Amino acid sequence: MNKSRAIYPGSFDPVHFGHLDVIRRSTHLFSDLIIAVAASNSKGPLFTVEERMAMLRETLGDDPAITILPLEGLLVDFAREHGVFTVIRGLRAVSDFEFEFQMALMNRKLEPRLETVYLTPKEDYTYLSSRIMKEVARFGGDVSQLAPRQVIQGFERLRGQNREIL
Ligand code: ADP
Repeated sequence: MNKSRAIYPGSFDPVHFGHLDVIRRSTHLFSDLIIAVAASNSKGPLFTVEERMAMLRETLGDDPAITILPLEGLLVDFAREHGVFTVIRGLRAVSDFEFEFQMALMNRKLEPRLETVYLTPKEDYTYLSSRIMKEVARFGGDVSQLAPRQVIQGFERLRGQNREIL
């Protein structure tokens, strides 16, 4: 087991400045970070896993400390496969707590070695979620303060392909 590695799982549909803040903080704490992009089909994602991974890759550039991988199936199986048992999650507000608490305990029940570490973002990003950003983009609002250029271009591509922003 390598203690300096961690997994940051999520839907990242699409990535925004809140996620990037958590990623930056994680790379200060861990020497290797795996960003695990979950399909989250039950959430009806806007972007495909490949599109979400590409936006993350283009935003983060070539950083040897960061690996971006798709997450299929259970997080505990992914953790075992990679031998990484530290999971990063972001906590924005009390509203995140209940679900995160449940998930951490369930994951630990499935894999006792798994520990979840919570990081809080800069206050400016505590209101930010992919869902709310998509809502703004859907009605043509300016999302340039919420997400990197690569995501703004992603929204533009969707419009070009006549794909609805839902
Ligand atoms: P999930 O489907 O796993 O909730 P998200 O992409 O919505 O995926 O979030 C991934 C992780 O990033 C979660 O731990 C979530 O709490 C965290 N996160 C999302 N938005 C923010 C934010 N604005 N600031 C800090 N953490 C965040």
